[in-house]
Amino acid sequence: MTASLRYDGDFYRIALHEIGHALGLNTDGFGNFDQHVTGSDSFGPEAVAAYNIDNGASVASLELASSTNPHWADNGSPLNPPTAAQSFIFELGGPDYSGMVGPGILQDLLMEPTANFLTGGSNPIQRIEITNVDIGGARDLGWAIIPEPGTSFLVLLSAAGFPRRKR
Ligand SMILES: [Zn+2]
Repeated sequence: MTASLRYDGDFYRIALHEIGHALGLNTDGFGNFDQHVTGSDSFGPEAVAAYNIDNGASVASLELASSTNPHWADNGSPLNPPTAAQSFIFELGGPDYSGMVGPGILQDLLMEPTANFLTGGSNPIQRIEITNVDIGGARDLGWAIIPEPGTSFLVLLSAAGFPRRKR
């Protein structure tokens, strides 16, 4: 099996990525995202801050894939420097680390155009989770991140209110 088949076949990662787009993350033409973009850089303050914290950096913007492709730029495989635009898995998401890099290890961003996995060694990485930078991007769109009891979390538009459960 090739790495690309492994990538194409990871339903969980693809579904998570597409949910990100549905929420407006890295989505061209979505005003709350576009407002932070100049050329091929995003200046969304929460995403930039998350990147700087996770990488001990002090960048002013995050590179996008291109001016017409608003995914975060793909900067290579995690654990295979140079690692720009990498981040830690978002802990409040209650991630199941099976098949993932695990806590405290930089991972590819969820909203990159290409997911780079580690295919060798004793701990091959086959799937990626949402990262602090991706969550920062959601906050820059106006989403509030609200921890839920248990292992899940909800991303809610502050203005939209809480969807009511069926009784
Ligand atoms: Zn995408």
